Amino acid sequence: MYFHSFLIKYAEIGIKGKNRYLFEDALVSHIHHALKRLDGAFTVTKESGRIYAHAAEEYDFDEVVERLKCVFGIAAICPVARIEDRGFDDLKEQVIRYLDEAYPEKNRTFKVNARRANKQYPMTSEELNRELGAAVLDAFPQMKVDVHHPDILLNVEIRAKGINLYSLVIPGPGGMPVGTNGRAMLLLSGGIDSPVAGYMIAKRGVTIEAVYFHAPPYTSDRARQKIIDLAREVSRYAGPVRLHIVNFTEIQLYIYDQCPHEELTIIMRRYMMKIAETLAKQRQCLGLITGESIGQVASQTVHSLAVTNAVCTLPVFRPLIGFDKQDIVDISQRIGTYETSIEPYEDCCTIFVAKHPVTRPVLENIEKSEQKLQERIDGLLKTAVETAEVVMC
Ligand code: ATP
Ligand code: MG
Repeated sequence: MYFHSFLIKYAEIGIKGKNRYLFEDALVSHIHHALKRLDGAFTVTKESGRIYAHAAEEYDFDEVVERLKCVFGIAAICPVARIEDRGFDDLKEQVIRYLDEAYPEKNRTFKVNARRANKQYPMTSEELNRELGAAVLDAFPQMKVDVHHPDILLNVEIRAKGINLYSLVIPGPGGMPVGTNGRAMLLLSGGIDSPVAGYMIAKRGVTIEAVYFHAPPYTSDRARQKIIDLAREVSRYAGPVRLHIVNFTEIQLYIYDQCPHEELTIIMRRYMMKIAETLAKQRQCLGLITGESIGQVASQTVHSLAVTNAVCTLPVFRPLIGFDKQDIVDISQRIGTYETSIEPYEDCCTIFVAKHPVTRPVLENIEKSEQKLQERIDGLLKTAVETAEVVMC
């Protein structure tokens, strides 16, 4: 194991002024959490505007990088060799050893980029660049200098305590640390879209809770398990997800009995939003999240979205609103939710669906149809909220 440490770079956090330390602390804690379950015990530290993760034992490099790639707020992951300052001759040897370890294939161009945080160091950055560059050329004649577009940009940072050598820059997921931007309730179905929507909002630093509506016995236990699996996959990025499972059967049957069938989907969706909002408010969520995208299905025409939205008082975040299906599929494959999403289990929406659902619903008409539910709907909504089951994912 050559690299004992990772230098974690973050981007957007830098611009947060006074709140900067809150963001940094959140990021440190998420990195810690992400690496906790690994064997090589990692310590995560904050040192003069930098975050480092140090390994005390052997660890699996690829596994660590995979995990860090799931931590929002990380812009780049740089495996770093941290060495002591034992004079320039030793530094030369360390630089050569570094290149030897990190680049088995030597036929590349490079540039040394020295920086001194410690201005007491007896050589200037320019001198360091020149002398170290010459030492590398001496040791590896196949290597060439390219100051404009080097294959390897070798950073040599002379710090108050020791010297950092790094050149590998592995892109992180970007975004902001989860928990730095409030909380929102994701309507999570078994489809491709809603897990991606949750991922995108969590990426902006929002803590995610989720709600799933099922309709037993019309929907199976396996369908329920699929949602739990999806919530777990989202939690790899978003941190622990509190999933509320709502029994929607009675409400769906009641709507089915009382309302015109071409309006079933839209009315059902309005009650889903209402229940989601009640749960959201109980849990101090500041918004709802859905995987809707304009025109994807009948219930997602602009007219339908407007009628669904009319029941909500909280803001509804629809991060996929302008995405084509293929773009959403691409993200779900990249973040790893796709395979679970395409498992073929029934969703409560599709069971009670009409052959020809309205695509241009008119709010007044829908509200008129809903009046037919007056007698029992308040009680059913209350029961649905009160009997919601909670699963930590
Ligand atoms: P998805 O791929 O996310 O299932 P979809 O294309 O199937 O979306 P719809 O079924 O119209 O679209 O659902 C639109 C949105 O409504 C979903 O993205 C999700 O946020 C929410 N939703 C739908 N069904 C459920 C459900 N059973 N439980 C919770 N939320 C749901
Ligand atoms: Mg769906």
